[in-house]
Amino acid sequence: MVIHILDIEKCRGCGKCIENCGMELWELIDWEDGTKKARAVEEAAEICNGCKCCQDACPEDAIEIRVE
Ligand code: SF4
Ligand code: SF4
Repeated sequence: MVIHILDIEKCRGCGKCIENCGMELWELIDWEDGTKKARAVEEAAEICNGCKCCQDACPEDAIEIRVE
């Protein structure tokens, strides 16, 4: 199982995680302050391959991929 941890404070909604995930496991959602934030899709924990491309691609260091 892979846990997708996102630091909401750091995320700027740039979409680089989405661009760099070959499995399309990230999406952008509207946040309460009018900005966009990343979110792992519902099935991400089950099907993510743990490659950490999203973590490496995030310019804000907002993603932590934990493989358990
Ligand atoms: S790459 Fe990082 S800052 Fe950009 S949307 Fe994804 S989590 Fe947020
Ligand atoms: S670890 Fe790899 S497969 Fe999993 S969400 Fe990130 S980029 Fe996608």
